[in-house]
Amino acid sequence: MTKENFDFLIVGAGFSGSVCARQLAEANKKVLIIDKRDHIGGNAFDCVDTNGILIHPYGPHIFHTNSKKVFEYLSKFTDWRFYEHRVLAQVRGQLLPIPINRTTINKLYNKNLDEFGVEEFFANARKPISEIKTSEDVVLNSVGPELCDLFFRGYTRKQWALDLSELSAGVAARIPTRSNDDDRYFTDTFQFMPSQGYTKMFERMLDHNNIKIKLSKDYREITEDISYKQLIYTGPIDEYFEHSLGKLPYRSLRFEHEHLDVANFQNVGTVNYPNEHDFTRITEFKHLTGLSGKGTSIVREYPTDIGDPYYPIPRKENENLLREYKIMAENESNVHFVGRLAEYRYYNMDQVVGAALTATKKIIESDIK
Ligand code: FAD
Ligand code: UDP
Repeated sequence: MTKENFDFLIVGAGFSGSVCARQLAEANKKVLIIDKRDHIGGNAFDCVDTNGILIHPYGPHIFHTNSKKVFEYLSKFTDWRFYEHRVLAQVRGQLLPIPINRTTINKLYNKNLDEFGVEEFFANARKPISEIKTSEDVVLNSVGPELCDLFFRGYTRKQWALDLSELSAGVAARIPTRSNDDDRYFTDTFQFMPSQGYTKMFERMLDHNNIKIKLSKDYREITEDISYKQLIYTGPIDEYFEHSLGKLPYRSLRFEHEHLDVANFQNVGTVNYPNEHDFTRITEFKHLTGLSGKGTSIVREYPTDIGDPYYPIPRKENENLLREYKIMAENESNVHFVGRLAEYRYYNMDQVVGAALTATKKIIESDIK
């Protein structure tokens, strides 16, 4: 039997794999993209549930970026709907804005401070830390111990099964502190949702004569049946090396989806529960997608160690093991590791797109030389 020839085998049809596939196809390379799941889109996959509502089976995905380049690139495959995400946290029986802002402070402490008053409040509450190393340092340094315990410690313990002090600074640094009334979760220049959803955007990205898609198959089952010159791998880096140096830890989630016969369940896209329940947050999809009408669909996120690897865990000991895997990765010829799992980086979607564009540019340039 003659083997089908490809220039590239791409493992994983999420953001990283799909962007790589499209870029290489446009550079006239023949690509096979494979995913063990039965759909494209990776964790950003969306679909219509049995009640006709567009949902994100792997948890809420909100697109935001400061990169014009990334935004313009994705705009080739989708139109956009303007959406600014807002999140409330249930604390001491109230729903309060997170990131913590002026409203949060005034409502929590029954005050009427202006911006300067809130800045003064933070100056008195914060515990200055000269060398910020952990996520605890980040939060204590900006808002002090009480707000840290009310908004961050419990949520973090649930999400990561670790204390804030055991996580790198970058985790909590994702959440800013504000003295003004801005209650948006993100302040990026571009904040939009793909008008017809992420999956439609991925379909257009992968719709190219040089791209063949294979689903519901682990790549290891097909490598003998095809021939290819180079491999782009977007799965977990330690899995590629059969955990030969030990397992890199990932945090997973169990998603509990529910449909309710009410027009709306909550007033904002997401409500966080830092101190109550086993789940971290509830997201109502209608806010994200702009859908109106009868019925609504929500998802609760229960963090767990068992299940698909969703989050690399940013902490020192994991960085050390990652460094060793990276050395092995550099020694693999004609294999490129791209994406959140393959680079073991707590990347957002836009960062993954950026990483994939950079990686393919390098690959194409080195191919020309
Ligand atoms: P993935 O999407 O994980 O794709 C990797 C693919 O590789 C998977 O589909 C997997 O099945 C496949 N694969 C792995 N191993 C194999 C194998 N052996 N054979 C075949 N296929 C294989 N980012 C944002 O910007 N905004 C958000 O609001 C946001 N919300 C998030 C919410 C949650 C709950 C999670 C978990 C992530 C969120 N993200 C968000 C991050 C976003 O999901 C990622 O940045 C992005 O999806 C990563 O894309 P990727 O292609 O690198 O990885
Ligand atoms: N976080 C928290 N309380 C909150 C929101 C976030 O303690 O109300 C911390 C927590 O450690 C979380 C991290 O900040 O894992 C990053 O939050 P983000 O919303 O960015 O997480 P993601 O959407 O990636 O799950």
